[in-house]
Amino acid sequence: MNRDGESILVIEDEADLREGLKHNLELDGYRVETARNGTEGLAKASRDRHALLLLDLMLPELSGLEVLRRLRERGDRTPVIILSARGQDHEKVSGLELGADDYVTKPFGLAELLARIRAVLRRTSPEAGVSQDVFLFPNLKVDFRRFTVERDGAEHQLSRYEAEILRMLIARRGEVVTRSDLLSKVWGYVHLPTTRTVDNHVARLRKKIENDPERPLHLVTVHGIGYRFESRPL
Ligand code: CA
Repeated sequence: MNRDGESILVIEDEADLREGLKHNLELDGYRVETARNGTEGLAKASRDRHALLLLDLMLPELSGLEVLRRLRERGDRTPVIILSARGQDHEKVSGLELGADDYVTKPFGLAELLARIRAVLRRTSPEAGVSQDVFLFPNLKVDFRRFTVERDGAEHQLSRYEAEILRMLIARRGEVVTRSDLLSKVWGYVHLPTTRTVDNHVARLRKKIENDPERPLHLVTVHGIGYRFESRPL
């Protein structure tokens, strides 16, 4: 029994398998959310934090690989176990290259899957010291699990959008991230706000992470293009 009730998102289009996994994972003490296609899966993965994703590769609307690619591109490091079919070796390898943590090949036994889930959670839990959800910079601590930034001993709460923007900028620190990149990856293709929205969120973020928001040292504007995060992790 997993007493923490960690949350698992199952992205699987085959209804029997999806519902069977939900039932059995809940019996094992996990909280389970499900999605029936890639678009729904990506939306749910973006909306809530999960301890782990079970991701089918062959999905309607958006393939499993595409879901994984978009999550990793925006800096989302949620552990992923791929559910692949026999003969999908090439996709399986691509998945691992894109940052999946493990895979199981269908048909798999429940005991095998539970063991792999536990192994991945052990490897990636904050207690294992390999979490990439906390970033330490010389005068800044960013904690994406708690959605907080700490600067000069003061803690500020981040909104989900602010956290996603910052996560993407930190993941690609030193590089320019365009406004349209931020729009499509942070807000997704469903609701497309204007680039003004990005600027407003960046302005709010600066008040939390910059000593002088008018003269930002971390969240630098690249005029006419986008933003760049500047700082070396400790
Ligand atoms: Ca499928």
